[in-house]
Amino acid sequence: MLSKQEIIQEAKRLRFADIGFTSAEPFTSQKEYLLKHQKEYGWAETIGLGLLAGTDPQNILPEAKSIIVVLESYFEESFPQAMERHFGRCYLDDDRVTKDGLALKIKIFRKFLQTHGINSKVPFNLPHRLSAAVPGLGTFGNNCVFYACRVARGSSFVLPVALVVDHEFLPDEPSVAVGCPDWCRNACVAACPTRALQGGGKIDPQRCISFLSYYGEGLTPLELREPMGLYVYGCDRCQNVCPRNINWMAKEKPLNPRVSAKAADFDLPRLLHMDKPYFEQKIWPHMFYMSFNDIWRWKMNVARAMGNSRNPAYVGELIRAFKENKDERVQCMTVWALGRIGSPEAMEGLRRFLKDSNGAVREEIEQAMASASVRV
Ligand code: SF4
Ligand code: SF4
Repeated sequence: MLSKQEIIQEAKRLRFADIGFTSAEPFTSQKEYLLKHQKEYGWAETIGLGLLAGTDPQNILPEAKSIIVVLESYFEESFPQAMERHFGRCYLDDDRVTKDGLALKIKIFRKFLQTHGINSKVPFNLPHRLSAAVPGLGTFGNNCVFYACRVARGSSFVLPVALVVDHEFLPDEPSVAVGCPDWCRNACVAACPTRALQGGGKIDPQRCISFLSYYGEGLTPLELREPMGLYVYGCDRCQNVCPRNINWMAKEKPLNPRVSAKAADFDLPRLLHMDKPYFEQKIWPHMFYMSFNDIWRWKMNVARAMGNSRNPAYVGELIRAFKENKDERVQCMTVWALGRIGSPEAMEGLRRFLKDSNGAVREEIEQAMASASVRV
């Protein structure tokens, strides 16, 4: 039977940033929290995420005895700024579909355990961050994000991966606590543009830009469009302003070649005009929370980000998108974006579209023209 030390050695060999061990006791407090906050988290059950079932490791592996948690430091290399501006960092090198990076390491690690008689499961619905804090790998921030204790200079740019195993290991000391310094005046809460963060480590997930960008229903409400800013998929704002992350962000890092190689595919105009084959081949394998039927949401998000950029260079793209898209949600956001940019060319486009538009799109054009004239 493998010792903890031998498993730690293998994790180090595979270049995981850290590793911890805990028991497979149910996460009772997490279950109670989820049940109490169904208004905020009930949606996760309706789309099959199974968060409640994930609070009991026995539901994942009936013979569960321990949980091994490995930490991946996903920001060891820097990302192109043009991508960081619009996409959450943790999604930029996500290989859960392509399976050629972290997923490969996890596969090798599991194979190692299996070779030594240890069966494992890697559930997506276990409370991963809590399962990493229980064996002392890190603490929480008031932004509800997990921060490493021993690696990545204590930053939040780490991804816990929990493996439920059928062998018992001595649990490590827990570190379940908020680890924010007293002198930080909740910079994250103040910086959260959609007021998803409510202080005291509470979040309304359905107001978070990450949720809104890939699960938001229908046309983004007017009052959220400006606050959602330039983000198209995900959001890092509460991590970027956090003093616990400054040391890691300041560190010189080589450019991530895998992410750089695909940066051009994520250029905003290309995303705005993409068709289904482009989405399936270039985008979905890397950012897959939205299905093939949700291209409209991608385009709506891109149009909103273009509008918030106030960059007149996007006007021609937005005019083209309005003409080529029949989806009302995309058309509405496109005219909102033109109004937000408000250049003479954008206003001329809106005037032309007004003549042939009806219903919600017409209302949106009138509103965009009125708002733009107020701003001028
Ligand atoms: S990720 Fe963005 S929207 Fe979500 S809580 Fe943090 S700052 Fe707010
Ligand atoms: S910004 Fe301040 S309060 Fe928020 S997570 Fe960072 S240290 Fe904690």
